[in-house]
Amino acid sequence: HSLLSAVPPSAAGGPFTLEAEFQRDLDPRKVNLIIGAYRDDWARPWQLRAVAEAKKQLKVESSFHEYLPLQGSSEFIKSAKRLIFGDNIVNEMSESIASIQTVSGTGANSLIAKFLDKHTRCNNIWLPDPTWVNHKDIWEVNAPRILMRCYPYYSDSIHALDFDQMLHILTNEAQQGDAILLHACAHNPTGQDPTEEQWNKIARLCQAKKLFVIFDSAYQGFASGDLDRDAWAVRHFTSFSDLEIAVCQSFSKNLGLYGERVGALHVVMTRSPHTTAIHVQDRLVDLHRAFVSMAPLFGCRVANHIFQNQELQDMWHADLTTMSGRISSMRNALYSELLRLRTPGDWAHAKNQVGMFSYTGLTKEEVEVLRTKYHIYMLPSGRASVCGLTNANVKYVAQAIHNVVT
Ligand code: PLP
Repeated sequence: HSLLSAVPPSAAGGPFTLEAEFQRDLDPRKVNLIIGAYRDDWARPWQLRAVAEAKKQLKVESSFHEYLPLQGSSEFIKSAKRLIFGDNIVNEMSESIASIQTVSGTGANSLIAKFLDKHTRCNNIWLPDPTWVNHKDIWEVNAPRILMRCYPYYSDSIHALDFDQMLHILTNEAQQGDAILLHACAHNPTGQDPTEEQWNKIARLCQAKKLFVIFDSAYQGFASGDLDRDAWAVRHFTSFSDLEIAVCQSFSKNLGLYGERVGALHVVMTRSPHTTAIHVQDRLVDLHRAFVSMAPLFGCRVANHIFQNQELQDMWHADLTTMSGRISSMRNALYSELLRLRTPGDWAHAKNQVGMFSYTGLTKEEVEVLRTKYHIYMLPSGRASVCGLTNANVKYVAQAIHNVVT
């Protein structure tokens, strides 16, 4: 008799399975457009200059390896809050924001799911269709009581936001007390964000329906290259005094600290007595204690050092421009090549989408041919990480795309 023999096999698939397959592929032409992690023009991981300098100054050989407090580093949390909400909001309502350092964005998403499941009467979580592949697993595992619903987000036929449908479904079907997940900027996988006017309509809908808003902010600085501009939606929603908002904040991408797991969860309370923020804060800490105790230290020390130091912040902003600039130039290169080849279809979306990804519109079958015949790897949904394109491979990729669609 074995408890373990009854364990069913895992449904294979997902970005990390594909990544392993890419690593085994020996073809010299292979191109990796799978994972959303920045690469330089030689397709290599890139350490931000600000991070390299911060580590030098921190003297990483120091022997400080103590536990962080359960809620995380207070200086880190303070700076993280200012980065996403800006000085005005923090100065005005700091006491109404509960914040906790998390195991990056995934940890923040998981924690808010656990929290809503256990401590609130939230019935439904509305996720965009499509969304980051991990959202569904996160909500299934962490919030078994809360029903997952999808709202239309993107129209494949027009390669753009399906805004009317989105509002229509949410207006008709979302209920008071439901939660809605929104990507703060650089929507994964579509690279398509609402305009400011559309954001405002979404905010009003959330207000009218009394929805609990969860912003997933994993790409601040990657949509426009500017941290403040990319926080616009979060700050705009926070200006509605009766919206309750959570922000899942990741520094994986914008500091290039993927494996160090640096992030935070903020919950903005409005019109609630001050004690509510304390209760929420304490409950978040209790839940976090039960599953990871506290977030890790090293990455947060690096981030903190950058946040505390003007010279390093300037360097970081320049790094963000370098990364978003290279991605944008690869978008343009891909687009120009497809145009030059007269590839059937309209490819303007390849150039106009923002963030790390291109939602190419290629079918599952076309993606499969790209992989088997050309050794070009992307997600079955047609999502390509633009970071994997380089001056050396963009022509090859464009030609392969051209061949599979003609
Ligand atoms: N949210 C979105 C939309 C993402 O795309 C990602 C990473 O790909 C994350 C959250 C979480 O990443 P991490 O856990 O590394 O912060």
